[in-house]
Amino acid sequence: MKYQVAIIGGGPAGYTAAEAAGKAGLSVVLFEKQSLGGVCLNEGCIPTKTLLYSAKTYDGARHAAKYAVSVPEVSFDLPKIIARKQKVVRKLVLGVKGKLTAHGVTIVSGEATVTDKNHVECGGETYECDNLLLCTGSETFVPAIPGIDKVSYWTHRDALDNKELPASLAIIGGGVIGMEFASFFNSLGVEVHVVEMLDKILGPMDRELSEMLQAEYAKRGIKFYLSHKVTGVHGTEVSVEKDGETFTLHGDKVLLSVGRRPVTKGFGLETLAPETFRNGVKVNEYMQTSLPNVYACGDITAFSLLAHTAVSEAEVAVDHLLGKSRPMSYKAIPGVVYTNPEIAGVGKTEEELQAEGISYTVKKIPMAFSGRFVAENEMGNGVCKLILSEDETLIGAHMLGNPASELIVIAGIAIEKGMKSDELKSFVFPHPTVGEIFREAL
Ligand SMILES: Cc1cc2nc3c(=O)[nH]c(=O)nc-3n(C[C@H](O)[C@H](O)[C@H](O)COP(=O)(O)OP(=O)(O)OC[C@H]3O[C@@H](n4cnc5c(N)ncnc54)[C@H](O)[C@@H]3O)c2cc1C
Repeated sequence: MKYQVAIIGGGPAGYTAAEAAGKAGLSVVLFEKQSLGGVCLNEGCIPTKTLLYSAKTYDGARHAAKYAVSVPEVSFDLPKIIARKQKVVRKLVLGVKGKLTAHGVTIVSGEATVTDKNHVECGGETYECDNLLLCTGSETFVPAIPGIDKVSYWTHRDALDNKELPASLAIIGGGVIGMEFASFFNSLGVEVHVVEMLDKILGPMDRELSEMLQAEYAKRGIKFYLSHKVTGVHGTEVSVEKDGETFTLHGDKVLLSVGRRPVTKGFGLETLAPETFRNGVKVNEYMQTSLPNVYACGDITAFSLLAHTAVSEAEVAVDHLLGKSRPMSYKAIPGVVYTNPEIAGVGKTEEELQAEGISYTVKKIPMAFSGRFVAENEMGNGVCKLILSEDETLIGAHMLGNPASELIVIAGIAIEKGMKSDELKSFVFPHPTVGEIFREAL
């Protein structure tokens, strides 16, 4: 069987590339060993946000009195929350399958192995291809913590499917995934501890806003241990260390969320031996690897590890193999944390600019400058921080407050297009919307 395009991996990178190539009239075969949709649809972006929405609804009902609404009895049903999550995932996976089929993509269920850059084997069959796209994604990184192999720790997968709440949860890793689960379990009444090796939560997100979010969750009862290293896990006891001092904290369950690493083994990549970057496959701005007609997109490139980046990279790769040279731009990739309140950022942070020695100005206002925000966030606070270069071009935007996830794209477009402050301000924003905060801030 011969195809113009063979794609290994049916996550956001793989299914986007397959759909785009199929739409363009190319013959496409897509290999997926687990479930179409990849990590994002099956065990990542979508299931986490589905659970978080149940938690947010529960929180909303518990605090309805703030809006003069009385809800006499509020409760939740965890097995039903999980069942709803599974229903949402099933629906979206079917949607992906439907789109691929509609565009003539051949979907092969099974583990694919590359034998050379023009041949892929799967289920005893050999598939020949002109172009090969590597979209195998990433997997949970399990650190070598003494004792971790002897306890039944959770990864995100277990946390997503668990139908019984632990009384307490020790989360190792205060990055985006760790904080989203911290938010979920905190809302449902679990005692949550977050241990983070760095001196802040949420990795590279804006420091000031990350600290505000941390303070908000500390008020709600989450215990944070920053600059702390986990030195061992024994049963339900987690040993942590800071500045040579060791102590133990208790977690009925331990959730590991210290990071993910690209899947580069187990499918014959060593036979191709492409150049590498960090622990992934190196690509240029058209997503070409060091081998002709072999592309890599998504988490396997070890660059961004976000679904929307994977989607953009896949579109760039397919454009390139169709002869349209459009380079991938990483200037305005939004980062969002779907806690409640949400936090989102795009472009440069103050910390990055300071490290690079670039001068900038900051325009920062409370979210309460937006009438709509005040109407919908009784007692809620938040911040909108915009960063401008010396010539008043928007180069960074960071927001704490709902719905930051929906609004950040406005700033992202402005940053990608190199808009100056006046230009962004000249657009008409609907009133009253929280998005007006950008005009207010500028
Ligand atoms: C808990 C969690 C929450 C997340 N939340 C978000 C979020 O809110 N927003 C966001 O942008 N990102 C989020 N992410 C990250 C996001 O899921 C990934 O960035 C995204 O899935 C990467 O897409 P991908 O196509 O590169 O790889 P993946 O989604 O990992 O897909 C790769 C696919 O390749 C298949 N595969 C691998 N090897 C083979 C083989 N040899 N043969 C056949 N098939 C193979 C795998 O089965 C898998 O389905 C989250 C991740 C996690 C774990």
